[in-house]
Amino acid sequence: MSRRPFVAGNWKMHKTSSEAGPFVRDLAGRVPGHVDAAVCVPFTDLAAAVEAAAGSALKVYAQNMHQAEQGAFTGEVSAAMLLDLGVDGVLIGHSERRQYFAETDEALQAKLAAAHAAGLDVILAVGETEAERESGQTEAVLRRQVETAFAGLAEDAAAATTVAYEPVWAIGTGKTATPEMAQAAHAFIRGLFPAGVGDRVRIQYGGSMKPDNAAQLLAQPDIDGGLIGGASLEVEPFLAILAAAP
Ligand code: PEP
Repeated sequence: MSRRPFVAGNWKMHKTSSEAGPFVRDLAGRVPGHVDAAVCVPFTDLAAAVEAAAGSALKVYAQNMHQAEQGAFTGEVSAAMLLDLGVDGVLIGHSERRQYFAETDEALQAKLAAAHAAGLDVILAVGETEAERESGQTEAVLRRQVETAFAGLAEDAAAATTVAYEPVWAIGTGKTATPEMAQAAHAFIRGLFPAGVGDRVRIQYGGSMKPDNAAQLLAQPDIDGGLIGGASLEVEPFLAILAAAP
């Protein structure tokens, strides 16, 4: 089955709202037609990014959301709040949120279900640490992260979810998984889904993807796109990665 490439930028905690508007306006006007593209921006940039991307193919995602509809969760943001701003989707489970904000697989299961119930698109990030890879636990970790997050989710919602495979040791370090290593992990993740879901689910690679290594990674049969941190903070390298998608 052919899956349309999907490349998303993750700005992390970069760019103010006044910087986001002009950046997104420039990018949105130049997204190539053969690829789906999104930017995952800080909460404070969402309104400006949505306005700047209006009428273009560029999607705007948040970088987190709370699973509850509303309530006493100081500092949190719900799916309904994102939708009301015109946001298209949400990135959940980034390793920085797992590592620094104690995000658990169980919370991600609830977030994934809540985002789909609300009608948001979702990128769920998974990936092993360096210690887990070195001790031979990569597949067990990926299995636990994927199976827990997707438990109980309807097949169509599961198939519509994007998974980002991001080996933690490759994020922001300049160390990229080799195309063969990444392909093996992507094929493993795809195989965790039932037939009929696995061939539809898009799996992005994330971890120091740059204009000079993107084409080789994106050419792998189970790599359907990228989740890009550092190289998404400037328009030209991000566009070069979009252009590298097959
Ligand atoms: C990320 O933040 O998801 C990421 C992959 O970062 P980088 O591209 O900078 O490694």
